[in-house]
Amino acid sequence: MKFHELEVLRICILKSRMEKSAKVESSYRNIKAGFSGEEKTTAYLMEANLTPKVSIYRHINLDNTQYDIIVVTQKLICVLEVKNMTGEFYFDSSNNQFYRIKNGLKDGMRNPELQLQRAVKVLQKRLNRNGVDFPVKGLIILASRAGIVIESPTLFQAVPIDAMCDFLEQMESDNRKLMTHEELKKVRHIIKRNGFKVYETDILEHHGVTRSSIKTGVRCLKCFEISMTRIFSTWLCTRCSHRDKGAHIAALQEYLLLFGREVSSDRLKWWLGIEDKYFIKRIVKEVSENSIGSSRNRTYVLSFKPWVLEPFLTSELRRN
Ligand SMILES: [Zn+2]
Repeated sequence: MKFHELEVLRICILKSRMEKSAKVESSYRNIKAGFSGEEKTTAYLMEANLTPKVSIYRHINLDNTQYDIIVVTQKLICVLEVKNMTGEFYFDSSNNQFYRIKNGLKDGMRNPELQLQRAVKVLQKRLNRNGVDFPVKGLIILASRAGIVIESPTLFQAVPIDAMCDFLEQMESDNRKLMTHEELKKVRHIIKRNGFKVYETDILEHHGVTRSSIKTGVRCLKCFEISMTRIFSTWLCTRCSHRDKGAHIAALQEYLLLFGREVSSDRLKWWLGIEDKYFIKRIVKEVSENSIGSSRNRTYVLSFKPWVLEPFLTSELRRN
């Protein structure tokens, strides 16, 4: 599991643990569509005939600006703004607006061109400040073949995913400048250091969800229902009878992605639905890497191992 998968994993967890909410459902759809657009784009990038070695970075956050994908070679730094939407797109340059028309309905949206302009500027500034004098380019990628541009953007080009490789190759060959190895190392370092830390934003607050509306409990990693019950020192699924001694480990990674890394023993009891304080004590040792505070106010810092949720994510991504 990669860091760029955590955002989609997190919204899947939230959605699966609450009653239907329009806001969460819409985030879920958007994040999933965005993710699959980026997956597709990354797969296409593998076929581009660019100067080796090609580095592809996803989900970067630089000075509060989010980047879908950044492609770096010795001859190219290009920010890709990926749009995985269907319909007809209008980049209205007279008033800087962006909208789409789908099934006769006009839908105003965040302008990807302005987003990209901002992203390019921020990265350019950061590189310049670090002594790298190399132009940052930008490209809007239309990941869905059912998305058509009617009115084109003026600052950057918007290209269908099938044409992306040709465009990037052209950008490289138009560029006469070559980064030195020192510069390239710096660029990679700057971008890599700014991976998007998903659990630093409060997903509950963002969706107006209260803690008490979240369904607690341990998930079965076979049928993916929150249906595990503690029985004879293991977890048993009341739905599919799957047994899993370590089911609480994955459950606590879900906790971490929703609420952050710190947890008290009361919260542990609440989340796992366990009263047995000896069991909780044992779990704490198993799942945390250190503790903060003393005696009654003690909280534990959960180890970061979201990859134990891989089976759940895989099943969620298969869903439509
Ligand atoms: Zn089950």
